[in-house]
Amino acid sequence: AAMREERIKKTKTVCTYCGVGCAFDVWTKDRKILKIEPQAEAPANGISTCVKGKFGWDYVNSEERLTKPLIREGDSFREAEWEEALDLIESKFKSKLNTKGSDALAFISSSKCTNEESYLMQKLARGVIGTNNIDNCSRYCQSPATMGLWRTVGYGGDSGGIEDIAKAELVISIGSNTVESHPVLSTRVKRAQKLNGQKVIVADLRKHDLAERSDIFVKPSPGSDLVWLSAITKYIVDQGWHDVAFLEKHVSNVEDYLSSLTPYTLDYAVEVTLLTKEELIRIATMIHEAKTTSILWAMGVTQHGGGSDTSTAISNLLLVTGNYMKPGAGSYPLRGHNNVQGASDFGSMPDRLPGYQFVTDDEIRSRFEANWGVTLPSVPGLNNHEMVDAIHEGKLDVLYLKGEDMGIVDSNINHVQSAFEKLSFFVVQDIFFTKTCQYADVVLPASPSLEKEGTFVNTERRFQRLYQALEPLGDSKPDWQIIMEIANRMGAGWSYSHPSEIMAEAASLTPLFAGVSYERLEGYDSLQWPVKEDGTDTPLLFTDGFPLPDGKARLWPVEWTKPLEFEEVYDLHVNNGRLLEHFHEGNMTYQSEGITKKTPSVFLEVSHELAKERELEDGTMVRLTSPYGSVKVECVVTDRVFGKQVYLPMNTNGEGAINYLTSFHADKDTDTPAYKEVSAKMEVLKQK
Ligand code: SF4
Repeated sequence: AAMREERIKKTKTVCTYCGVGCAFDVWTKDRKILKIEPQAEAPANGISTCVKGKFGWDYVNSEERLTKPLIREGDSFREAEWEEALDLIESKFKSKLNTKGSDALAFISSSKCTNEESYLMQKLARGVIGTNNIDNCSRYCQSPATMGLWRTVGYGGDSGGIEDIAKAELVISIGSNTVESHPVLSTRVKRAQKLNGQKVIVADLRKHDLAERSDIFVKPSPGSDLVWLSAITKYIVDQGWHDVAFLEKHVSNVEDYLSSLTPYTLDYAVEVTLLTKEELIRIATMIHEAKTTSILWAMGVTQHGGGSDTSTAISNLLLVTGNYMKPGAGSYPLRGHNNVQGASDFGSMPDRLPGYQFVTDDEIRSRFEANWGVTLPSVPGLNNHEMVDAIHEGKLDVLYLKGEDMGIVDSNINHVQSAFEKLSFFVVQDIFFTKTCQYADVVLPASPSLEKEGTFVNTERRFQRLYQALEPLGDSKPDWQIIMEIANRMGAGWSYSHPSEIMAEAASLTPLFAGVSYERLEGYDSLQWPVKEDGTDTPLLFTDGFPLPDGKARLWPVEWTKPLEFEEVYDLHVNNGRLLEHFHEGNMTYQSEGITKKTPSVFLEVSHELAKERELEDGTMVRLTSPYGSVKVECVVTDRVFGKQVYLPMNTNGEGAINYLTSFHADKDTDTPAYKEVSAKMEVLKQK
């Protein structure tokens, strides 16, 4: 019995399924996962988890896991030893550097991997290869939110912690399916509604769970959020309800901004958004009456041609009403992946070094150069979107991609997949043989979170440690070790023996994380950035001003960008988003038996009106066709969607992938794909 006890192990880890960052103990016996046990001291979740956090882990033992490097031979792959795979990578990288130079290579990091791994990936790209062609998948989701916050308040992070959202008198949720996408965070809101009388306003196309529970649910026409946000801001100012004292003390560019609101009358907003005047006035009045308002938003705002501008409009509204610098108030862009925040925080971006320091700044670059012993490129590199174009144009032809199934999650995937076919050398590093691996020349087997150490930063800027619960399966390795081996093949001479050393180096170069260390993150201890050298962290992001040159926030005028217009034949608007049960492109959760039994595939939600008009019922198979591609999918008739708006979850197991329908169109300021601007026509294939 004693021996059996010894084999049972309890390890603290952090969930990888969304940006809430729930922490819990995982009990294992050998490789078997016995149970997930949340602990009261877990800062983001306490004793709660959702279905994915509780039951979504058996993928680590899936037969489908990659356990050996694979090398392409003609149309198939053969298993190889690490030595051979790394030899090949080394020779291809070196010959490309010699013939075409550094910028012919590009690197994509992952929001699923640890901070230390994102840091090393950008260090490899910049310091070893000599290119700023490095990005991560926050380009697909949250870059516009970050842009909106940089412009207005200086930091691209949530204003407070999840507990601050619970303190708000009023929560406004825009384009966020919070209950399914950030389940544990939504339970905080539900509890605050019940216990504190918190009011909730939801603006969305779809009547999801939070909309059902809201005080007001409004359905603006697709892509029109900037207009109603600006109109209620103007109305608030016209009523004299703006916070004059706050604006005088803490905000610049007030006059310019207020005059930019002139076109945003209520009548104009009614015409564009199809909300009623009463709805607009009621929302403005509720903001006026609440002492604190927090605004949560997600992909429904960001994944549009004007995603950055709408995010800016949200922050403008909060500034005008004095809803910053106090608990319960502020902006909360809800991060999707577990480490969307951290991947950018640690410099996997084409124009920023870790801690959002500009690559164009000579002084900053020279600090990194001195530490790394290299000369760094000063010209910003290509983002994901630009990389795909550069491949098509023949400027870029070697890609190293880790932890991202880009061939299915990028928009307009026919275009992305044909770019992959043009690469002269493509390395994909992942835990499964993803759809993207089909295009690779070398596939490297990585280890998931339970098999490694590291840190993540959740949506509330919180650093948390994960500890290793299992040995890497087969010959798979933690991503940080693989990146280091590739860097060393290229002559880097790195010798990190543990991720804590990587963090120590990153913290020493990054004022934002100066005091972050593994010692300060023991067990369930956590830190919210900025973290001063003495270890003082920042639960409430803005307390005595804003990190802009004059210490003031800045109102930023924005104009509405009309969503993409389609020919009339594409008569359905295809909204898309997440499912509670599945994670992202589904590579992990479709390997989890219990979850897959519950939700075996994606489906198309259609309205009762459309069902009646087209004679659709549950199970009817249809083909949707946009100008970019088509998918086959089964219908479910529901009262969540309305009229000619349909909803296709993105969490596909390969069938019915939304990105066969999405376009080239992107947010004009960040190149985040406009995934939400999709129209398609429908063909009924077969009645059930
Ligand atoms: Fe994981 Fe998010 Fe669920 Fe928490 S709410 S258990 S972080 S998926």
